[in-house]
Amino acid sequence: SVPVLTIDGPSGSGKGTISRLVAEHLGWRLLDSGALYRAVGYAAGAAGLDISDAEAVTRCAQTTKIQFRAAPHDGETRVIVNGHDATDELRTETAGAAASAIASIPSVRKALVDLQLSFRKSPGLVADGRDMGTVIFPDAPYKVFLTASAAERAKRRYKQLKEKGLSVTLATLQSEIEARDTRDASRAVAPLKPARDAVLVDTTGMGIEDVVAKVLAVVNP
Ligand code: C5P
Repeated sequence: SVPVLTIDGPSGSGKGTISRLVAEHLGWRLLDSGALYRAVGYAAGAAGLDISDAEAVTRCAQTTKIQFRAAPHDGETRVIVNGHDATDELRTETAGAAASAIASIPSVRKALVDLQLSFRKSPGLVADGRDMGTVIFPDAPYKVFLTASAAERAKRRYKQLKEKGLSVTLATLQSEIEARDTRDASRAVAPLKPARDAVLVDTTGMGIEDVVAKVLAVVNP
């Protein structure tokens, strides 16, 4: 079957950047599963839904049209939600928190399973998320769990958001990220945790190239 490399971990662990670079290097497809939860959270907000209304949000997850559009020459992949380019809106920590809220609803997660499985196409897939190795692709031959200290993760997210021109403070971001990770790790369904057979990589103090090399070594030892 088509090989999958799962890369799970908390926010700011470097998953997004590392997954993209590793997928490029291998020539494999990329699934940014967090973007799906962000898109549903965004669509629910745009429709004026009450995020605690599980039935309404589930219907929203079932009907929201999410498309990834590769940007020309190396730009950031755009995320199109119901025909609207929502890439900028999805980046914010507000969108991250909304994603985390709706991601704790089991029927919402179920609504996104088939879409995620459909990314598994030849010659291979790099799947970035929280439950890629535990729930969505449990049979994946390659699994990595990225971590980094809370302080470093907050700093990375801070730098990323700053580069995109968002106004944030490090202290606020750190407490928001910690709240999100605590919720993601303590929810009943698909909690954030390493798969039993995942290779743990602590990226604290590591450069991007070194992390990429470590992850590639999992696929090609
Ligand atoms: O990775 P990202 O920060 O974009 O994910 C946003 C949120 O979506 C996470 O905090 C988590 O609650 C949820 N998520 C999830 N399962 C995934 C990916 C993301 O529950 N596979």
